[in-house]
Amino acid sequence: MQGLMMNSQLLISGILQFAERNYPNQEIVSVTADNPYHRYTYKDCFKRTRQLANVLATLGATFGDRIGTLAWNDYRHLELYYAVSGSGMICHTINPKLYPEQIAYIINHAHDKVLFVDLLVMPLIEKLQEHLSQVESIVVMTDQAHMPQTSLTNVFCYETLLAGEPDTFSWPDFSENTASSMCYTSGTTGHPKGVLYSHRSTLLHSFASALPDCLGSSSTEVCMPIVPMFHVNAWGLPYTNVMTGTKLVFPGPKMIDPTVLHTLITKENVTCSAGVPTIWMVLLDYLDKSGLKVPSLNRVISGGAACPRSIVERFERDYDTALVQAWGMTETSPLGTAFHIKGTNRDLEGEALTDLKCKQGRGVFGVEMKIVDENNQELPWDGEAFGALKVRGPWVCSGYYGMSHTPGAEGCPVEEDGWMNTGDVATIDAEGYMQITDRTKDVIKSGGEWVSSIDIENAAVTHPKVAEAAAIGRYHPKWTERPLLVVVPRPDTDLSKDELMDYLKAKLPKVSVPDDIQFQEQIPHTATGKINKLGLRKQYENYQFSE
Ligand code: AMP
Repeated sequence: MQGLMMNSQLLISGILQFAERNYPNQEIVSVTADNPYHRYTYKDCFKRTRQLANVLATLGATFGDRIGTLAWNDYRHLELYYAVSGSGMICHTINPKLYPEQIAYIINHAHDKVLFVDLLVMPLIEKLQEHLSQVESIVVMTDQAHMPQTSLTNVFCYETLLAGEPDTFSWPDFSENTASSMCYTSGTTGHPKGVLYSHRSTLLHSFASALPDCLGSSSTEVCMPIVPMFHVNAWGLPYTNVMTGTKLVFPGPKMIDPTVLHTLITKENVTCSAGVPTIWMVLLDYLDKSGLKVPSLNRVISGGAACPRSIVERFERDYDTALVQAWGMTETSPLGTAFHIKGTNRDLEGEALTDLKCKQGRGVFGVEMKIVDENNQELPWDGEAFGALKVRGPWVCSGYYGMSHTPGAEGCPVEEDGWMNTGDVATIDAEGYMQITDRTKDVIKSGGEWVSSIDIENAAVTHPKVAEAAAIGRYHPKWTERPLLVVVPRPDTDLSKDELMDYLKAKLPKVSVPDDIQFQEQIPHTATGKINKLGLRKQYENYQFSE
């Protein structure tokens, strides 16, 4: 027997329509390249979102088209989130900090029809012009007064387009399983892969995320997402927060500038913020040096990389701000776990409580997790046994865009047992708190950004005096991890560190240039002839980058 409940579809336009009715006067504050302090209300935002939906239609975009964005966290990007997905198109957020070739690959692979580009990203797009033959129009996210001179064709001004459209639009109804947004993730091998979210997965993720024992969200709060809107939809906050009518504060291109962050927090009474540990390190150092305070900031959410204990301690001791660590991946929308104390262990305090906060948190209802050994046998939740972390659930990726969706097939993230192997190694304790102990992947995470070790190695081995090279991530106090390059020079050559470093600087983007190079006669290999990164990491376990 079937239940007799309405089968209303969970659509992103539903969030927008609900918020417009219920929270019309809630505010959205942004820093943008063309305005250091922009403020308007939800009502203004959604009126413009309808105009933007009309703009998309005028540009010839239709249901299912991919619309690329290369932009920071601001109100225009938020309008795009809702106008694109609400119209049944796919909002494809792209990280402007990737290699230009990767950006071109991603845009072409996704077949983006229209690109919405921040003013600051225009020089990059001009360089890529000849590689973007499928893109039909480029919209610069600014007003007429700030439109740049450009050699590109089919370029439009965002504000001019909006002004030419009516503010009425009828949001279409369609299946909740329709794709709503996409985000490419760079793994260890091959090209970046597209994770394709659906309306259903996004709404379920938002419901879960808003729970008080998860990221928590309410109309009485003021949230400043510092995690970029091109990285897993800013951890879903632009959906969750709008669903709950939260005031939003967007730092735009200034997300690594602690002066701007502090001004926004204090002027706008920000109660909650979210970002990677590097951001918190930068903010804490600034506060310590300046003697400034952040009295409104109740909690910060830290994810993307393990949060150093000192950050938890400094926030709580010196600024009375709770640190909530969360774990997730592009493939998990991203929420998998979040820290919150349980009623049954609320008496925990002191070091024991800090120990728990340094773990990655408890599973969120909707994401099942387990740890397994190398034979795929489940391991106990005892806080000791560690193994590959596997997850499954309605907001976990079942296949990458344009690749096989058959569990176990090559390129499919889901294994034959129907679970996705996260590539992380973890323990889970008897209370359900998960802790990442290692990463099976070799990519290096610098300030929350992926740096491919393979790219660094590939660049290094093109030097005529390099025989073999291996890049590993090592702890860095500011960036969490930075690349250390281990090199075997060719025999009878006189390769110096400076020579190789200069060579790499010319070949690699700044973020990928290793912080140090170590020369060795040999690099350890596994039985199958691959570089033994685990062995190398062990060898450099106590290595520290010099100042
Ligand atoms: P991404 O897909 O770029 O968001 O990266 C996901 C990966 O970041 C995970 O598989 C973990 O390796 C790492 N990660 C995310 N959150 C945390 C965390 N709180 N602690 C440790 N590692 C994390």
